Amino acid sequence: MTQTLQRPPNTAEPMLAGEKSRTETFLVKLFAVVPLLALAAAVPFAWGWGLGWTDVALAIGFYFLTGLGVTIGFHRYFTHGAFKANRGLRIALAATGSMAMQGPVIGWVADHRRHHAFADREGDPHSPWRYGTSAAALAKGFWHAHMGWLFDREKTNAQRFAPDLLADRDIARIDRWFPALTVVTLLAPAVLGGLVTMSWWGALTAFFWASLVRVAVLHHVTWSVNSLCHMIGDRPYAARDKSANFWPLAIASMGESWHNSHHADPTGARHGVRRGQLDMSARLIWLFEKVGWATEVRWPKPERLARKLNPGYSAAPRGFGKAERGLLTETPDRSRS
Ligand SMILES: [Zn+2]
Ligand SMILES: [Zn+2]
Repeated sequence: MTQTLQRPPNTAEPMLAGEKSRTETFLVKLFAVVPLLALAAAVPFAWGWGLGWTDVALAIGFYFLTGLGVTIGFHRYFTHGAFKANRGLRIALAATGSMAMQGPVIGWVADHRRHHAFADREGDPHSPWRYGTSAAALAKGFWHAHMGWLFDREKTNAQRFAPDLLADRDIARIDRWFPALTVVTLLAPAVLGGLVTMSWWGALTAFFWASLVRVAVLHHVTWSVNSLCHMIGDRPYAARDKSANFWPLAIASMGESWHNSHHADPTGARHGVRRGQLDMSARLIWLFEKVGWATEVRWPKPERLARKLNPGYSAAPRGFGKAERGLLTETPDRSRS
């Protein structure tokens, strides 16, 4: 059985904006593969001489700092507008997300909006279903959705998919600063590790674990949302694509692996909408709302989710506690899918 891809409607702007240059594709490959090789080489490293608590603390710290920059910033805020942020938070989110080394913010957002516009259909930059549904086609599709798509030379047209960000001077500047932020994200752990241990060796091990390994692991977790979370897992909500909730990645992905719920309600600030579904990013947005940095947060609406429920699933999402009363307030529906 082969998958027939439906042709999406045409709009005024072309989908692609030419091809990436050879240098650009080379750099994408380099930064995707080198940290991964570093991770493999790390296995023989032993605790006590090449790895210590300072490295672990820095690796975890930078993992979540940059990861939340992507999940809260690039994804829920810049791509989907799940809340409004003050200028400081907006800049901080763009900068920390850029430090995840997943590309500059505007390109990331354009690709991801294109993913939602064409999810698992022709035009989706990273659908694992691109080649069909046979085992061989899915193996090829998994690779394509996980990281192969990054090596494609086609470039999503930001004029069409992210004109709001192109017009924003702060964001356009941070977008241009991506190479500098890459240097920062790689060097900061080394500098901190060196200062804490007051040794060159401490700087080197921190660079290894908290720069290279940390970037590699976050890359694979993020890519898994594109690959695994469109292949395996639970589908409690009706979506026009094959998105699924894959629980094993809930913590590592900071709530992004509740991907079926996300595709069912793309502008929602919380993806883990059902009972027991950990969503660290949503908790932090809640905290930003408490201190007043985030406003007009689009907490999921139980009645909207209930309408999208697939047969066989109970309507009861997670308990709506006092702290989350905002969930039940009605806000205008600006959802984009
Ligand atoms: Zn998706
Ligand atoms: Zn999304």
